[in-house]
Amino acid sequence: MSLQHQPVTAPEDVLHDVFGYASFRPLQGEVVHHLVQGGDALVLMPTGGGKSLCYQIPAMVRTGTAVVVSPLIALMHDQVDALIQAGVRAACLNSSLSSQEIRQVEQQLLAGELDLLYVAPERLLTPRNLALLEQVTLSLFAIDEAHCVSQWGHDFRPEYLQLAQLHERFPSVPRIALTATADERTREEIAERLQLLSARRFISSFDRPNIRYTVAPKDNARKQLLAFLQREHPGDAGIVYCLSRRRVDETAAWLREQGVNALAYHAGLGAEQRREHQERFVSAEDMVMVATIAFGMGIDKPDVRFVAHLDLPRSLEAYYQETGRAGRDGLPANAWMVYGHQDVVMLRQLLDDSAAADAQKRIERQKLEAMLAYCELTACRRQHLLGYFGEQLPEPCGNCDCCLWPPATWDATEAARKALSCVYRTGQRFGVAHLVNVLLGKDDERCRSLGHDQLSTFGIGRELDARGWRSLFRQLLARGYLRVDADGYGSLALTDQCRPLLRGEETLHLRKDEPRTGGKRRQRASRGERFVAEVDQQRWEALRACRRRLAEAQGVPPYVIFHDATLMEMLARRPNSLEAMAEVPGVGEARLRKYGQIFLDVLQGREPTSMPEPSRSSV
Ligand code: ADP
Ligand code: ZN
Repeated sequence: MSLQHQPVTAPEDVLHDVFGYASFRPLQGEVVHHLVQGGDALVLMPTGGGKSLCYQIPAMVRTGTAVVVSPLIALMHDQVDALIQAGVRAACLNSSLSSQEIRQVEQQLLAGELDLLYVAPERLLTPRNLALLEQVTLSLFAIDEAHCVSQWGHDFRPEYLQLAQLHERFPSVPRIALTATADERTREEIAERLQLLSARRFISSFDRPNIRYTVAPKDNARKQLLAFLQREHPGDAGIVYCLSRRRVDETAAWLREQGVNALAYHAGLGAEQRREHQERFVSAEDMVMVATIAFGMGIDKPDVRFVAHLDLPRSLEAYYQETGRAGRDGLPANAWMVYGHQDVVMLRQLLDDSAAADAQKRIERQKLEAMLAYCELTACRRQHLLGYFGEQLPEPCGNCDCCLWPPATWDATEAARKALSCVYRTGQRFGVAHLVNVLLGKDDERCRSLGHDQLSTFGIGRELDARGWRSLFRQLLARGYLRVDADGYGSLALTDQCRPLLRGEETLHLRKDEPRTGGKRRQRASRGERFVAEVDQQRWEALRACRRRLAEAQGVPPYVIFHDATLMEMLARRPNSLEAMAEVPGVGEARLRKYGQIFLDVLQGREPTSMPEPSRSSV
C-alpha cells in the first residue's frame, strides 16, 4: 500500500486531492484556516457535520505531527484506517496494541513520519508519552468528543479533566476541541476545564435535514417495527433502541425469526460478545442492532439508515443524540418512534422510584415533560426540536410526520370529562386497561367483582373504541391532567389541573391518532427506490459487491473504502476515464490510484482486472 506523503500546502488542495471533496462545508473552511494560522478553536457541530476534517486538514498543512485525543479505541482504528486509505500518514496508540506495535508507532513518530497520531486520553499524559511528545514537533492538539470533560453531560470521563495540562506543557501548540453536544452548560464547562476560554468558537446549526422524524402511537410495537422495516428499510443497516435488556433480547430474536439480520447489544452481554456484535454491525451493510442505550457512543458508521425507538427516551437530549446516529453520510435517514401510555407510566414510575436527590428529580421530570410534549406535537417536529436547543428554524421543515401528514385534531372535551370522572369514580386506583373496560361497559369478571358495573360511568364511552380511549388517556397523562400513582401498579389519579376541565371552564383539543394500516399510503423509501433507479440496481449491487470484496481483503468496514454517497455519485456520473473518476466526490488521489480502475471496470460491466492483495492496513 502506498503511504508516500505529497507535500501540499493549501487546505483547499488537501480537501480536493486527498479527500476528494470540491468545497468545504459551512464553518469547516473557517475552522481550518483559523487552526492553520495557529489559533485555538472550540467547535460545535452536529453529528455528521464534518468535524474530522477540521483538524485533519490543518494536521497535514502544518509542520509536525497532530495529536488527536479520542475516547474510543474502535473509533480511533476506523479513523486511522480511513486516513490510510486516503494516503495520509496516520497511526494510533492505545491499549489494544502489542508492545512491539507501540514501539513501531513511537519510532514512526520520532522519525517525523506521522501527520496524525491518535491517542487514548489515559495514555496521553503518562510520563513516557509526554517525554516522547517533547522530542517531536507538534502541529496541533485535537480533543474529540470534548463533552467527555463535562460532568453535566452524559459521557463524563475523568481522564479528560487532565487534558488541561496539555496547554501548560505545550503552550505554543494550537488546540481544537470538538463536540456534537449543543447545550450551553456543557459548552461552558468544556471551555473552562480545557482552558479554552479565549479560543474562538465555531457553532454551526444543529439541524440534521436528511433525518425524517416520525412518532407513531404504539399499538403492537414489534409488528409496527417489522412493517416499518419492510416498507422503508429492507436490507438497510439501523439501530433499534429498547429500554430493557429483556426486551432487547426478545426483539432481536423475534426479528431474526422474521428474516431480519438482527443482533442484540446491552450491558448484560460479556465484553467480548459486545465487541464482537459491534464489529459485526460496523462491517455489515444490512444489520439491525437491537440495543439498550449502552450502544451507540463511538459508532461512527456513516450508513446507519434508521434509528427506531420502541421505548420513549428519558429526554429530548437523549433522543436527539440517539437519532443523530442515523444518516451521518447525509443521505436520507429515518428517526422513527412508537410511543404509548405505558411509556409515560413506566418512565414516571422510574423517576419516582429513583434514589436521586429532589433537585435532580425535578430536572429529570422537566426533561420527561419536554419529551412528552414533543411526542404529542401536531406541528413541525424539527422546529420544536431545534427550538428546544435554542435554534430557530423559520419555516416548517417538510420532512417530519407532522409536516408530511398533518394530524387531525378533535374536540375531546366531553370524552376527557368522561375519562376523568371514570378515574374518580373508581377510586383513583386503576390503570388504563381497566378504566377503558369500564368506559366501554365491558362485561368482565373484574368489573363485576369490584362493583364497577354499577357505576354511573360504566359503559358511558361507547363513542370511542379501546384504541381511541388509550390514545386519550395517553394524551391526558402527557399533558398532566393525570398522574401515575406511586403504588407501583400504574394506577392513575387526577391532578389539580383537571378542575377547570371538569367544571366545564375549559375545552380540550387533542391529536387524532390515525390507525396506520390501510388508508393513506405512506411514502415508500426503500434503498432501491430512494437512491437508485431501477435500471441501475444491478450496477449498484455490483459496485457494492466490489467494495465488499476490497473491504474483506483488508479487514476494514466497507465504508472505509468508499461511502455509499461516493458509490452513488459514480452511478450518477458514470465516469469513463480515470480523470473523470478523480472528480467524483469522495475519491481523492490515493483511492483513485488504488481503486479507480477497478471501479471503472465494474461501472462498465467488466470483471475488474486487478484486485489488490489482501493486507491489514492499519498501524
Ligand atoms: P462528524 O465527526 O462531525 O460526525 P465526519 O467528520 O465523520 O462528521 O463527517 C461526516 C461525513 O461528511 C463524512 O462522510 C465525511 O466524509 C463527509 N464530509 C465532511 N466534509 C465534507 C465536505 N467538505 N464535502 C463533502 N463531504 C464531507
Ligand atoms: Zn417538520
